Amino acid sequence: MPYESKDDLKVIHIGFDDTDSISGKCTTNLAFKVVSKLTERGVTFIDYPLLVRLNPNIPWKTRGNGAVCIRIRTDSSEQIIEFLLKIIKSESDLVNGANPGLAIFEGESIPFSLRQFSGRAMNDVVKMEEAEKLAVQLSVQIFKYGQGLGIIGALASIGSLLEGDHTYEAIAYRKNEYLGSPRMLDKSKVSKVDINTYPFTFNCYDKIHDRILIAPHGPDPVFCGIRGEDPQIVISTLHEVMPVEKLEGYMVFRTNQGTGMHLQNELSQNEIRTHRAGYVRCTVTKKPVIIRGGHVMFEVSDFSNNQYPVAVYEPTGLGDVASKLLEGDSIDIGVGVSMNTPHRTNILNVEYLSILKIAKEIVNINPLCNKCKKRMKSEGKNKGFQCKICGDKKYSKISVTNIRDIQLGMYLPCSKAHRHLTKPLHRFGMEKNYPHVPNIIKPLHSDWFKRF
Ligand SMILES: [Zn+2]
Repeated sequence: MPYESKDDLKVIHIGFDDTDSISGKCTTNLAFKVVSKLTERGVTFIDYPLLVRLNPNIPWKTRGNGAVCIRIRTDSSEQIIEFLLKIIKSESDLVNGANPGLAIFEGESIPFSLRQFSGRAMNDVVKMEEAEKLAVQLSVQIFKYGQGLGIIGALASIGSLLEGDHTYEAIAYRKNEYLGSPRMLDKSKVSKVDINTYPFTFNCYDKIHDRILIAPHGPDPVFCGIRGEDPQIVISTLHEVMPVEKLEGYMVFRTNQGTGMHLQNELSQNEIRTHRAGYVRCTVTKKPVIIRGGHVMFEVSDFSNNQYPVAVYEPTGLGDVASKLLEGDSIDIGVGVSMNTPHRTNILNVEYLSILKIAKEIVNINPLCNKCKKRMKSEGKNKGFQCKICGDKKYSKISVTNIRDIQLGMYLPCSKAHRHLTKPLHRFGMEKNYPHVPNIIKPLHSDWFKRF
């Protein structure tokens, strides 16, 4: 190879999203194919491919609402862009309603406005026109297919540096000939690695429901994915559960999965809009009721005294604790806001519940007879109370404080109901950083990408 001076090398950031649909194909698998090709070309990867999960409350999102960003240093950016245009078109599920978008940005550092845009895509609704306008301002090349909605996620993934908390996922892919056939995974192996790697992996296995959580069920090319705290643990755990089926290969993504990133902003009064995500600090104003299906409904008010209905859905497993809340309890709730159509009001759908302060429960009960130590009986409305043994009378009830059957603390949905972004309880306190310093390339794990 001829010697290339460093000046010929350019940093390019490749973002894409919305290449998949319900019936198959998969954005992360496209990323695997892209990286495979880029590896042959000998580019330098300046970060792991990012798998960025965006606001999960967007109804028109693709399955997991995950966008991918690949950051490389290369001397042949033009040929690479040409290749990307071809592969996005051929590997996207356009006929089945995918609306892919591809974004390419050149430069060492990511402009602040792009980072801000990415932040908003985490917890708000971003319009395609905004994405297009920003792309023009920052000279980001964008390419739309279908309706092109994917350019929002494509841009957002480039703007997302995941400098704060992050996790990793090693995703293994199937060979074409196995697509659609059942995934043969050894449940006992998976439950064993789940125990042995705790707390450095998460969502491998659901003990309570005896279910494997690492494998999807659809026809898509993902065989399984191991989520965890660092590249080494996800790679070694993947090797431990490796199936008999011959796989195409695997790749390690750096992700915001399991970080609760979409719920980190506090939603104030004018920010509670349909499809938004965040947390609300509030007081319970209406006692919970359990409705059909086991869902729990109650009402809260925020600091500005706005009242909101709150829903805790049965599958989250949070209904039990939520049903014990009472008026006056102070709570934080991580929520997705949705529209309660018949009432045209917003409803807060709970993703986590943190109980900050438990109100006293005062109940009024009939007085005791001083002599007989027995509870007096009511004589009827406003007629006072009488002891049935000695006939003594009293005229008012007494107030007592009930002991509440509820504890302060953080309550999270059960792992079966976890979304990609849900932060598992044991990850609190395990948050980490990944500072982005332009020009400094952190070495990646030597086995982060493998084709078998
Ligand atoms: Zn008495």
